[in-house]
Amino acid sequence: MTNKIDIVIRQAEHHCQTRGGRLTQKRRLILEILLENNPPKSTYEIAELYHQKSGDNIPAMSVYRMLDFLMENGLVHKLSSTNKFLACSHISCDHAHQTPQFLICDSCHSVNEIGLDTTLISALEKSIDAKHFQLSSPQLELHGVCEGCQNN
Ligand SMILES: [Zn+2]
Ligand SMILES: [Zn+2]
Ligand SMILES: [Zn+2]
Repeated sequence: MTNKIDIVIRQAEHHCQTRGGRLTQKRRLILEILLENNPPKSTYEIAELYHQKSGDNIPAMSVYRMLDFLMENGLVHKLSSTNKFLACSHISCDHAHQTPQFLICDSCHSVNEIGLDTTLISALEKSIDAKHFQLSSPQLELHGVCEGCQNN
């Protein structure tokens, strides 16, 4: 485990504690897997990596439950357009989490969590409100080709 992941895990533990939850060994392992692996993973891929890492078999259903906990605590995001999961890039940040926004590369499937200007987000919300549209997920998932793939 790299040092950076170590720091993020410690922050995550602290974060769960202040919210009254506990980052158990299993939940921690799932988070580690996601921190170590970009592109984002499906529950089955996570279960497979979990097996490789710990030697334990874990049903996809349990992976789902642990991901649910991690998402509730703002440590993991789900991409609805690809049905895959990734660790939040802002776990060790002090600032409040904004509306999650992702740049998804359709070539290598890597994902960048970005921060758009808050004025841009509120402008977007305003125009959505104007259409009397009820938003179920404010998350933005933008598909394209990343810099690395453009250069290839
Ligand atoms: Zn995030
Ligand atoms: Zn941040
Ligand atoms: Zn790419």
